[in-house]
Amino acid sequence: MRMPLLAILALMTTGGRGEAQISVAAAWSTGTTRVRVIAHRNLDRDVAKVRQLMAAFESGINPPGLPRGLLDGVRVTISLAEEFDDIVEGSAHPASALIILPITSITKWQQRQVMRVVRHEVAHLAMARVVEITSVPYWFREGYAEWAAVGLSCEAELQIRLDRLARPHDPPTLARPAERVQSRLSYAYFAAFFSHLDRVGGAVKDGSLLRAVGGRGVERGVAAVFQKSIETLEAEWQSDLALRFRDIPDGFSCQ
Ligand SMILES: [Zn+2]
Repeated sequence: MRMPLLAILALMTTGGRGEAQISVAAAWSTGTTRVRVIAHRNLDRDVAKVRQLMAAFESGINPPGLPRGLLDGVRVTISLAEEFDDIVEGSAHPASALIILPITSITKWQQRQVMRVVRHEVAHLAMARVVEITSVPYWFREGYAEWAAVGLSCEAELQIRLDRLARPHDPPTLARPAERVQSRLSYAYFAAFFSHLDRVGGAVKDGSLLRAVGGRGVERGVAAVFQKSIETLEAEWQSDLALRFRDIPDGFSCQ
């Protein structure tokens, strides 16, 4: 059942606690997945942003790299929470198919950021259906989710280009960043790694990499798909970055 947007908004904006359900079958091509959005306070002030959030589900977005049907039958809950860590944009909790988003932040985000964060968290939920998340390295977990959400965004590419300009002899690695504030740049690099893999190997977008990793673990899954070790792929990616992203081309713009 698909509820009209206005009915959803009416539900969400009445009383101190609103609850609404929408189907995102079209949005994520996941068949029978249902998403429920809960807000634990009156959203009158934030109706425009919540409307954007809803629109993101209805616009036919389709994160690449997630095998079809992965979230079929799953009832996803998106909770718009009041309190949130400044650095974290959202969090996913696969055991209860729960996504928590910071209501105070999303009222300031642009539509594409709302979509990126929702898709990133949905990718975490989907990955958890295939792999044991605690056994997956940080670069794979966050890089895959970020790449599935947005590919390599223009903003991420710009961040990488600036970092390459600033530190040309200090190549990025797939290691977890030591400081949390470096996470944003690391996410950009990790997403760029998956973008690189898909460009040279073509097995990411269609979900075969995730399926292989689900069956064999990250190391053996990656080796089976690309016939190379992660270390070799990482070294090739570093050379590729040094070549392709070594400066900022004239007229480069993200608008
Ligand atoms: Zn994440």
